[in-house]
Amino acid sequence: MTTARSLKTPEELEAADLIEPEMLGGIRAVADRYAITLTPTVVSLIDRTDQNDPIARQFVPDPNELLTTPEERADPIGDQAHSPVKGVVHRYPDRVLLKAVHICPVYCRFCFRREMVGPQGDGTLSPEELAAALAYIREHTEIWEVILTGGDPLVLSPRRLAAIMRGLAEIPHVKVVRFHTRVPVVEPDLVDEAMIAALKESRKVVYVALHANHPREMTQAARTACARLIDAGFPMVSQTVLLRGVNDDPAVLGDLMKAFVETRVKPYYLHHPDLAPGTSHFRLDIAEGQKIAAALRGTISGLCQPTYVLDIPGGHGKAVIGESAVRSEGGCYSISDFRGGQHIYPPK
Ligand code: SF4
Repeated sequence: MTTARSLKTPEELEAADLIEPEMLGGIRAVADRYAITLTPTVVSLIDRTDQNDPIARQFVPDPNELLTTPEERADPIGDQAHSPVKGVVHRYPDRVLLKAVHICPVYCRFCFRREMVGPQGDGTLSPEELAAALAYIREHTEIWEVILTGGDPLVLSPRRLAAIMRGLAEIPHVKVVRFHTRVPVVEPDLVDEAMIAALKESRKVVYVALHANHPREMTQAARTACARLIDAGFPMVSQTVLLRGVNDDPAVLGDLMKAFVETRVKPYYLHHPDLAPGTSHFRLDIAEGQKIAAALRGTISGLCQPTYVLDIPGGHGKAVIGESAVRSEGGCYSISDFRGGQHIYPPK
């Protein structure tokens, strides 16, 4: 069933047969705390006959979201600790996040910024706040790359996107602008000529990082939207969150990575799920994640390999957490192949 507009309330989800009537009370309690939106594209991807549908699991709220565990944090990757001015996160020397908007086209139930995004979230930067954020970037000549994230920056109107890009055009040390987005998958028609013209306003190198977690998200419409961006000169990379019940299976993950490569989107990050509040039902053990990531090696092309990473809680940045193929052994190295065989390699 396809809906004409996005679903945003528990009542709309019930009317669309996405939740059972007896769940309404629990889902209303979740809705009081976290934003809900499913676009018509997302609704059309959900298989209502499958109780464990991996698309529904990502977007349909679950009463488990009200269960928080002691290790979970409102700001799991420590954005606030590294925010010198509103909208800017400066964690690494050569790049900043620019969070111009805190609205998304969909609200992922496992979102690491779930306490900040949504209509009740941190809002959109005012023109004065955006000017202050751009002034910070201009003053810090070590900033080589600006990453627009949020929220989803591609929900901004072409007029607002163009204004940001014109602001960045005037900062010579910024060479690369990267967008983190789910739009090509969840609302592919938004990727149109007006958006592309706006992204070209900075005349910088623009990369687009696509967030998708299951091969069924890579529909023909999503692939066409990506092709529009890539053909316009914006290389694309992928980001996937490893999620229990969605993609914690090497075959599913492998199909997703192949779908990215077939779409000319280079697999980039496989994120270990963050310690966001109410998301323990999505999390898996690092050792399990390592096994899944290792199972991709040798079974699918090298082009399809993502890097398995964890954002260290507290804002200490990313760490690569895949199993190492190298062990030190008696003055030599022992190297494991993709079948688990061990091979001795000399020190040099
Ligand atoms: S699109 Fe990104 S920022 Fe928005 S809810 Fe999903 S994961 Fe969070």
